Amino acid sequence: MSADVEKLWELQSVMSQLGEREKRMAVKPESFAVVDDEFRTANDEVTRLNESLEQMAKERRKVDGELMEQQELLKKYQGQLMQVKNQQQYAAAWKEIDATRKHVKELEDSSLKSMSEAEGVQKQLDDRKAGHDDLKSRYDKAHDEWQSSLGDLRKEAENLRKQASAIEATLPERLKNEFHKIFRQRGSIAVTRVLNESCSTCRTRVRPALLQQLKRGELVYCEGCHRILYLEKTPS
Ligand SMILES: [Zn+2]
Repeated sequence: MSADVEKLWELQSVMSQLGEREKRMAVKPESFAVVDDEFRTANDEVTRLNESLEQMAKERRKVDGELMEQQELLKKYQGQLMQVKNQQQYAAAWKEIDATRKHVKELEDSSLKSMSEAEGVQKQLDDRKAGHDDLKSRYDKAHDEWQSSLGDLRKEAENLRKQASAIEATLPERLKNEFHKIFRQRGSIAVTRVLNESCSTCRTRVRPALLQQLKRGELVYCEGCHRILYLEKTPS
């Protein structure tokens, strides 16, 4: 058991170093952050323009459908006009035709207007697309520069991950899981050193009985913070 606590102590040190590397790797340098921001904004804008084009096309289909109906109706009324028997019927048919023509005209205007609006949006989209390749290559370049600047850090992180796995492979499964659980939940400190007979993290005094257990190499938890206690061997 004593050896296990030693291993946990070592694992924690490796994990802390790994965490520090990962934190440093996650920080975007200013040179990339600027392009990244521009790139995201441009992509959002393209999405927005595409959505509005789609919406416009949908509305236009509706207007065009209505327009066809009204044109059919107009033909029908015009046919009826040929068959009127008297002045009264003629006036009535003519009234229908007039109203329908107006409606057709309105729909045609609305269709034209929405077409020219869609052209405007399409133009914005085309402009965006024309600039996209340049922006994408600036983005890629900045991203590559950032990533290649991380080369050493990456290698270090990779080695630390290997070290952690190697230690974990020698630990009982339950203890390993216990360690990670505490590590996650308690600010990345699962194992805490005993200094002056106290927990060095929460300062809770370690009772003599527990100290004896620790010296025998048993797994002991701090009564204050419930972390695993680690008593460094004094050279004898
Ligand atoms: Zn404690």
